[in-house]
Parts: sequence; C-alpha cells; structure tokens
Amino acid sequence: MAGQRFTQITNFWSDVFEKDGRQFSRVTIESTYPFSYQLNSSAANVKMLIRKALANIDYLRTEVYDGLINEFIVEQTEAKNVTAEIFLDCETPFTVDFSEGIPARTFIVFDRTRLYDIFSPLKIIIDPGHGGDDKGGTGPVDLLEKNVTLAMAGQTKIHLDKYGAQTLLTRKNDQNIPLRERFNLALSSKADLFISLHTNYDKNPEVKGLSVGYNPAAAGSEKLAGLIAKEVARKIKCDIREIKKDSRLTALKKISGVVVEPVTISNYVEEGLLRNPHLYEKVAFGIFNGIKGLFDG
Ligand SMILES: [Zn+2]
Repeated sequence: MAGQRFTQITNFWSDVFEKDGRQFSRVTIESTYPFSYQLNSSAANVKMLIRKALANIDYLRTEVYDGLINEFIVEQTEAKNVTAEIFLDCETPFTVDFSEGIPARTFIVFDRTRLYDIFSPLKIIIDPGHGGDDKGGTGPVDLLEKNVTLAMAGQTKIHLDKYGAQTLLTRKNDQNIPLRERFNLALSSKADLFISLHTNYDKNPEVKGLSVGYNPAAAGSEKLAGLIAKEVARKIKCDIREIKKDSRLTALKKISGVVVEPVTISNYVEEGLLRNPHLYEKVAFGIFNGIKGLFDG
C-alpha cells in the first residue's frame, strides 16, 4: 500500500558542498517516506511537485543567495501536494539524487561551474585593514578592528580561491603595513580588484550599519560598491548606511577598489554580531556575490 500513504515533508534546506574539488549548490528535502514527483524547469526556475505530501508548514520562503540559488519556496497546495520551487540566478544544469533511510532525503543538485568561469581569470587583492600597533576601532566590549578585518579577509580569500581566483593578502598576520604598500601590491601585480576590509567606528554608540567606499577614479568601482553593499547587507541582515567616494583609493588608479565596512564595531549590537564566526562567512559570501554581479554577463 506504499503508493497510498502520505509522505510527511519534515525538513528542507540548502547548502554548498564540495565533491572532487568542485563546488555544487544543493537543496535537500527530508521526508518520512520516498515520494514521487514531477519536475518543471524553465529558464531560471525549477519546480518540484511532490504528490500526496504534507509539509510541516503551509508556506516557507528561504533566502539563500549563494551566487546561484537566490531563494526557494516550499508550499502546501490545496490538492494535498507540496511544491518546492527554486529560483536561480540563471539557467543551470541540475540533477536529482536520493538517499534512503529515516528520514529519506531527496537532493536537487546544481552545477556551479559558471562561477569558476567568472572568477578564475580574476586577480584580487584582499586587504585586512589596520594591524600591529594600528588597532583600528575598538568595540564597547573588547573586539579590535584589526583582528576582525583579518578574520573577514581570511574567509573572503577561502571563498574566492575555491572558484579559482588568484588572491593576494596585503597582510597575513598582526602587522602594520603602510597604506601605500598595500596599494602598490595591487598596482605591481596588475590586480583587477582591490577589496579592503574594515569596520565602521563612530563616537556615537547609536550609529550602526554597513558602509562601502569606492575608488572614484576607476570605472566600475561605484557599481561594485553598490553590488557588494546590497549583497553583504542581505546576507548579514544589516542596513546600508552609506556608499561613498573614498579619495584615498584613487592611488589605485584604474583598479576598481572598495573599502567594505560590513558593521559598525562601536555599536554594542553590531560588535555582538562580530562574535559569531558565521558572520565572517556571510560577509565573504556577500563580497563574492557582489564581485560576481560585476563580471557576470
Ligand atoms: Zn578601519
């Protein structure tokens, strides 16, 4: 009677995983029993209709923004079916996979190859702000900007390296590198991009939010700043405070450069966000998505 019973959809989520050195996006659907389904895919949309199924919620929209999957929606329809609809950034090949067990798991797996095509030609300088005796801002509890920027830069490098970008850090440990040397590294290595990581600091403890400065001398910098601001803000759920010209970055000449300040370290709540290691991954993902937006299509 297996064909008669209802499947309970108990859980669903998405992640990015690595297999044989390649990255894939995956949506996982957990259920009490295996189910039959019908797939409809159009340009940038994949819809799985799961028959005779009950979901543990009526409707759930999940924001993903992993550079390929934008979001997915799981919905209980009146006809005792459940739909899982995945909204993609662009048309992408996928496979459906399955693992038995309790719970049963169904996977919709998307190929992230096109992200390698975007990132592998790029040379990117990642600049952790401050260092050594230059501590940068200090949070109301005890965090130091120079340590936070190093952690954000490390995550950003890991993320970009996965897709074949050539990345160089202006510092790898706690040392104070003059600004000029940081810019010179970008110029001498003929970098495509210069991404500087800081946190905002303000004497007023109420001030919060994200800000991005850009090199007004380089075409594309303003656009890059806007894209990174949008992508980081929606990853870490912070407000965009400002996108502004940063005249110091004109030393980079025609290299697109940005100074990213994802949060304001002097704000008690935002300093607290910096204590969560996942924040650094999210910032890295936001920067990755922003760069992708600049070079995509
Ligand atoms: Zn700073």
